[in-house]
Amino acid sequence: MGKALIVVDVQLDFLPPDGSLAVAAGDEIVDRIAELVKDPRWCVVVATQDWHPVDHISFAKNHGLPEFSSYQYVSPVDRHETQQATLWPVHCVQGTPGAELAPALSESLQSLECDHHTVKKGYISDREYYSAFNDIWNDHRTELDGLLRKHGVNDVFVVGLALDYCVKNTALSAAALGYRTTILQDYTRAIASDSKSMCNLKQELVQNDITLK
Ligand SMILES: [Zn+2]
Repeated sequence: MGKALIVVDVQLDFLPPDGSLAVAAGDEIVDRIAELVKDPRWCVVVATQDWHPVDHISFAKNHGLPEFSSYQYVSPVDRHETQQATLWPVHCVQGTPGAELAPALSESLQSLECDHHTVKKGYISDREYYSAFNDIWNDHRTELDGLLRKHGVNDVFVVGLALDYCVKNTALSAAALGYRTTILQDYTRAIASDSKSMCNLKQELVQNDITLK
């Protein structure tokens, strides 16, 4: 029974105090994730990185619209398919300091004896990604699923940032692909952490056979 740990987007742009899209209290989870990656139960550890070109479609600036405004994405595959989603401040631009993993996590990964990988997502300009497995249209896929299968993984544990976007969607993809999926809540932080949002989130996870613990 192979167990994998997926550390989602623990990158400087998502972390206070200086990140351009900092998740509140995100810095509180970095050291504990850096410890968790060393747990001997993992047969593989994967750290994901949001990795955008400067002309990425999710940046409000590229549409001349205010940050955090709502935007109707049109599928690059089927023009009739649309999704309403949020436009973000510029974040995690390829090769910039903000796109780097938190230093404590990098150091910890480098010290590991078990196999570890980084998986990048969000590098195609015309599509948004939340899940580390695929874009929001479930069209382009990253190497993550193949990597887990190669290691004989059955159980996936997801941690990182942000709980209500990339952590949640990575877990939803994992569960849909047939992995037994758990989110370790103490190792995540959400963008919307009010009790109503958390209640809706928990319900969505339960409905999709994802354990939150
Ligand atoms: Zn992004």
